[in-house]
Amino acid sequence: MPEMPELEILREGLAPRVLDRPIVRIIVRQPSSVKTFHPPIDSVIGQRFTGLFRRGKFVIFSLESGDSLVVHLMRSGWLTARGTGEEPLALDAVSFLFRDGSSLVVVERGSKRKACVYLVRELSSVPFFSGVGVEPFSQDFTAERLFECLQTERMQLKSFLIDQRFVAGLGNAYTDEILFDCGLSPFKITTTVTFEETQNLRISIHRVLDRGIQRLRRLVGDGLLESEDHGFMTMHGRPGETCPRCGATIAEIRYSDRSTHYCPECQSGGKVYADRRAGVYR
Ligand SMILES: [Zn+2]
Repeated sequence: MPEMPELEILREGLAPRVLDRPIVRIIVRQPSSVKTFHPPIDSVIGQRFTGLFRRGKFVIFSLESGDSLVVHLMRSGWLTARGTGEEPLALDAVSFLFRDGSSLVVVERGSKRKACVYLVRELSSVPFFSGVGVEPFSQDFTAERLFECLQTERMQLKSFLIDQRFVAGLGNAYTDEILFDCGLSPFKITTTVTFEETQNLRISIHRVLDRGIQRLRRLVGDGLLESEDHGFMTMHGRPGETCPRCGATIAEIRYSDRSTHYCPECQSGGKVYADRRAGVYR
């Protein structure tokens, strides 16, 4: 699932390719992707996208009418732009064709938890949009605010970071890196995190996201990001490998639809947690 760094780089690459071009046609190949009926999706024909923003994991295209086209890529959706004359592909869910023959395309590469497309008058009518928490690079993202959020609910730290109500834009992969960076266990209970640990967590969120953004920006240059790139990550996607900091073996906990990777020595005081599938979970 694309997270904040990927979405930021996608946004940067898409903006010059899709803004300010008259939309002449829409092709909806996967009608279930379009989640709203009023205004009708066809009402974007004849308009241009005037702005392109990101909020959490939502990508927002503003329209001349004041309406917004909002895309959430969910598990396996993607956004791309095609040049004049490039043929549509089988995985294209919704395509917005511009007068010059180029297009903006919502691609769906999976079969479940599909990308969602909303056309709305008010952003607040997009499900979960209003509940998105603080943007990590906004001025409001202070250690005090993060600490306050951590105290509101007893939950595991990794689940807290992924939960979009508190911090916007983080997902499964980047949170593994962030927690390793600050040496905190993904299973630590939020209400036990000290203020000092919160300060370090905030610094790690900034450092890891910035590292990801810088890397992806170098990777794509003037092009478009085509997929997630976790190649720079030290924990996520590396179970069984050696921790670069202490030499211990990177551990894994698998859930039904995701995995957590962490260093038992650096993050959980040497404790290797039982795999949840085995029915033993602490
Ligand atoms: Zn380690």
